[in-house]
Amino acid sequence: MLKPHPVDADAALFRSTCRRFAEAEIAPHAVAWEEAESFPRSLYGQAAALGILGAGFPEHVGGAGEDVLLPLMAIEGLLHGGSTGVVMGLNSHGIALPHILKLGTPEQQARFVPPVLRGERIAALAITEPGTGSDVAGIRTRARRDGDHYVLDGAKLFITSGVRADQVTVLARTSDDPHRGLTFFVVERDMPGFQVSRALHKTGWRASDTAELAFDGVRVPTSHRIGAEGSGFFALMQGFQGERLALAFTGHATAEIALNDALAWARERHAFGRPVAKFQVTRHKLADMATRVRAARALSYEVALAARAGQVDVAAVSMAKNFAAEVAVSVCHDAVQILGGMGYMRETRVERLSRDARLLPIGGGTTEVMNEIIARTQFGL
Ligand SMILES: Cc1cc2nc3c(=O)[nH]c(=O)nc-3n(C[C@H](O)[C@H](O)[C@H](O)COP(=O)(O)OP(=O)(O)OC[C@H]3O[C@@H](n4cnc5c(N)ncnc54)[C@H](O)[C@@H]3O)c2cc1C
Repeated sequence: MLKPHPVDADAALFRSTCRRFAEAEIAPHAVAWEEAESFPRSLYGQAAALGILGAGFPEHVGGAGEDVLLPLMAIEGLLHGGSTGVVMGLNSHGIALPHILKLGTPEQQARFVPPVLRGERIAALAITEPGTGSDVAGIRTRARRDGDHYVLDGAKLFITSGVRADQVTVLARTSDDPHRGLTFFVVERDMPGFQVSRALHKTGWRASDTAELAFDGVRVPTSHRIGAEGSGFFALMQGFQGERLALAFTGHATAEIALNDALAWARERHAFGRPVAKFQVTRHKLADMATRVRAARALSYEVALAARAGQVDVAAVSMAKNFAAEVAVSVCHDAVQILGGMGYMRETRVERLSRDARLLPIGGGTTEVMNEIIARTQFGL
């Protein structure tokens, strides 16, 4: 069994609290929730009560303190529930709230953040559109000023928790300047003209809901504009660093769990009179999987611990995200192979994780886009 990466006592305690919660409250239901493409809303309240939703958020809005490592420990622990969809659904506030905390007034922070950290409201972030994903400067959702309101028109696609979110942090265009023309707004579920046009059906992350959203003349009060007009793009680029680090941890943790499941299976399963683990080809595969997991984990932790100390290395964040995503996909692929037919059955965690892993090189910035960032920031190319 590959042991978890060593961390300080507080972080280790929080990680095991999250793991115990996931094993008790998520794992027994993972198959059913994946089939239902949803999980009970009450899980947000349960996670909030353990401080999971507030991990990494400042205390003045009801968080547990601004330690970069704690939400990452939550991801490592929660993935033991065997459903990346539940983890991503529970954590959609992790990408939706930072922009409000960075750019919002104290009144906006007090209004939009604490109820989410208490598990009473669900928050989502809406950047991607039907016509543009990687190219954020291509956003076409418009916000036109009209007195003390803005009028929003447009559409957003692939929005995690979008089907049942109570509030959505939306990036919209307030002027034609590709980068300086983008501004954040908080759109609330009951605002006329805002609707969920489609619930989307996915390969993996199935227990999280994913939406296409429509904005048809939605009147949003100016009190819901987050930051000055034009401040959205640069805040988003900073916010991406946290999201990508979270996806790096999702990647190495997914691979670590798949490796441990494959190892346990290979010890128990017999073929030709011996445990499958005793075939050299299996032993070597497991050794190689463990090497890849430890390398990905080491890079993820290096970047996380630097960020915890206040040093965010943009190139290294993208490297960690890319490498962990690739390791998650390849280790899950090998784990399915070791489990044989059982690795293809919905009832096994390895099967679910292998589908979940495929999103990691796409979501939060694709591998190709990460490589563009690495080449530019590392080498000036
Ligand atoms: C399950 C799921 C959940 C998601 N959750 C959210 C969410 O909560 N909120 C949100 O806003 N978005 C969300 N997304 C969207 C996600 O961030 C985008 O899918 C992702 O950024 C890629 O954008 P795209 O799908 O439009 O692909 P595109 O940008 O159209 O890219 C298509 C292909 O072109 C390549 N490409 C693009 N630009 C370049 C370039 N410059 N150089 C080389 N290759 C390039 C890409 O790498 C990719 O291979 C989610 C997506 C999924 C699938």
